[in-house]
Amino acid sequence: MFFRLLTFALFQALGAMLAAVFASAFAKGQVSTISAALAGAAVASYFWLVSDLVRGLRLLRWLRMGDGENAPVDSGLWGEFANRIRRLVRSNERQMQQRDERLQEFLAAMQASPNGVALLDKELRIEWFNESAARHFGLDARRDLQQHFGNLVRDPGFAAYLAAGDFENDVLMPARSNTASMPVRLSVHIHPYGQGRSLLLSRDVTALEQAEAMRRDFVANVSHEIRTPLTVLGGFVETLQTLNLNEAERARYLDLMAQQASRMQSLVSDLLTLSRLEGSPLPSGQDWVAAAPLLEQCRQEAEELTRVLWGESQNLEFDLDPALELAGSAMELHSAFFNLIGNAARYTPGGKTIRVQLHANADGGAFFAVQDEGVGIAPEHIPRLTERFYRVDRSRSRDTGGTGLGLAIVKHVAQRHGAELSIVSVPGEGSRFQIQFPASRVRLAPSAEPAAAPQLLVTP
Ligand code: ADP
Repeated sequence: MFFRLLTFALFQALGAMLAAVFASAFAKGQVSTISAALAGAAVASYFWLVSDLVRGLRLLRWLRMGDGENAPVDSGLWGEFANRIRRLVRSNERQMQQRDERLQEFLAAMQASPNGVALLDKELRIEWFNESAARHFGLDARRDLQQHFGNLVRDPGFAAYLAAGDFENDVLMPARSNTASMPVRLSVHIHPYGQGRSLLLSRDVTALEQAEAMRRDFVANVSHEIRTPLTVLGGFVETLQTLNLNEAERARYLDLMAQQASRMQSLVSDLLTLSRLEGSPLPSGQDWVAAAPLLEQCRQEAEELTRVLWGESQNLEFDLDPALELAGSAMELHSAFFNLIGNAARYTPGGKTIRVQLHANADGGAFFAVQDEGVGIAPEHIPRLTERFYRVDRSRSRDTGGTGLGLAIVKHVAQRHGAELSIVSVPGEGSRFQIQFPASRVRLAPSAEPAAAPQLLVTP
């Protein structure tokens, strides 16, 4: 400011001096030197003001054009103005850019969300949505922005939810891609925010609903399985209490009661095995189990089982690599092997042949297979056999002491050992159940010494 006053004063002094020199040189006697100096100072002031105005106008034009970069280069007060304004504009631009980047990152994070997100305006028109929402509701960004959400999603349950306007809870509805063979269920929740706007969240709850349905089915199945023998037991107890039976009849009833109790025991034992399989860490790949003693134990148990079931022995053929060892849990492997051998014994009439094999493959893996000449299984049942409590023939399964959990246990054990269960069957001809072990869990015993028999906890 001082510099500005100084230049103004210098301008005036220069004007006054020039006018005084001019008056004394060319207009001697006509104009006094003082008046000439005053006039010169006034004219100089006028020029100074005009040039100042021009610089001011240049700055104003630059501001009006909104060109943040090319500010007029000037000195003095106007130059200072221009500089400061330019710095302010630059810092504002930087801040806006940072805000823009943050907004883009935020939107990218919303895009990455596995849940559907849509922003709706006061009239429930779509302002923005992410890819999950597009997938859930079949939306298209080019076509559906600014459309009323209710016009695009026509599910009656959702329409009622929108109409009621009570967004305290979520609503369940099928996704756009929902089909009978591949159901996709959504939980949709609207959250009002700001001045009448809404945030719509959608979540795929198909797996959750399926797990809940499975849990319900499981509890219903277990209750049913236990209720049946309990009812029978109750009936026998009542008979024993009310009727005057002779010794032979009493013994027969007690026998039947023991059968029901053993059925419940098998069920509880299988349920415990399943829950242990689900809850325990995966079997180690370093604990080697000798296959020969394991299968010898299965053979003895199977012979006993067939005697009890059919009164005569079946032809049990065991064909295995005696030096073969499997890495994993002896208890689990025994459970899986005996379940398959036991099934073959139960679903194959006496006198027929059951062939059990355990051999190394060329790729270093090994397979365990049980082949029978039993009733066989129709192809439509095969994919469901490993479901809990799934039975092809309920009465045959129950009559032979089945719980409906055997193959579920086998599948679990196979998965825990990195192995795969496969089933091939022809009704009326027989079945072949095979577990294929990966090379990482198979070796041939380093010494010829047969390993000690593993301690087994599961018995039929
Ligand atoms: P269960 O205790 O009823 O045998 P599983 O899970 O072991 O239960 O087997 C499921 C069903 O698969 C059985 O009920 C039976 O119908 C069928 N199944 C299993 N193994 C055989 C087999 N070797 N031959 C014929 N059917 C079989």
